[in-house]
Amino acid sequence: MRAIQLLCIALLVSALPAIAQPINEPLVPNPTAVSDADRIENLKEKSVMVFTPHPDDEHFSMAGTLHKLVQNKNKVIVVIYTNDNKGSKDLEMTRERLAQIRRAEEEAASAAVGIPKENLIWLGYEDGDLEYADPYRLRGELARLIKKYRPDVIFSPDPGSKWTQWHKSDHRIAAYITQDAFRAAEWHLYYPQHLLDEGLKPHAVPLAYFYYSQEPNYEVDITDIYEIKVKAVAAHVSQFEPSISKYTPDMPDFALNELREGLKKATQSNGRIVERFRRQPEP
Ligand SMILES: [Zn+2]
Repeated sequence: MRAIQLLCIALLVSALPAIAQPINEPLVPNPTAVSDADRIENLKEKSVMVFTPHPDDEHFSMAGTLHKLVQNKNKVIVVIYTNDNKGSKDLEMTRERLAQIRRAEEEAASAAVGIPKENLIWLGYEDGDLEYADPYRLRGELARLIKKYRPDVIFSPDPGSKWTQWHKSDHRIAAYITQDAFRAAEWHLYYPQHLLDEGLKPHAVPLAYFYYSQEPNYEVDITDIYEIKVKAVAAHVSQFEPSISKYTPDMPDFALNELREGLKKATQSNGRIVERFRRQPEP
């Protein structure tokens, strides 16, 4: 169905249920579940960092959660690995123009959930080429940002899921290297220049939530703000048909309706609409 033709998850069309799975099963209640005070929904005035391979992954997987975090006055910084400048079938599209389009769409989608463009950090890697980036340098970039913003909570794609073995390489690399950067940020001898040159002290990431997880142990109910999520995801117009094949800045009504219904279907649980994560440490 066209609504599910998000470009950066195009390879997951048939595997979309795997992202949000288990779709139709409620999570098994955990006897040591997270206390109310520690729940994402109750975080207030904290520092939050979100890492996303492309401009759209975080909205597709957790736009509702992002909005709840913003509502509670948490400072949310979004780190975007790539410029997503290759995913178009429009033969008149150029990489330069597509990068500009994707940036504008990301800013609009972020605004929809309440995140200003000043909170977006673009690392600027080429779409599809993240695995060819220098991993030592990339891990250092991430560790430096973690030391600078000192997050109480981090969100990132799940490196523990089997889908990372087969999915688009940017997702795989982003998932692994974000977690690797946790360790590099915790110990000052990994990149000593951060402390020596900039005074950035080590920072241990206390809590992480991984999206795109096949082993979720935590869910956020976004039923009441689902339309915010639809608005954020729909801002990524160029990730959907008919704009993939022939770019147009507007999403036709039929495509928006398919998006609304398709997204809902993929994220429903026990009659509610949810976003799921693997929490580390486990609840
Ligand atoms: Zn992606």
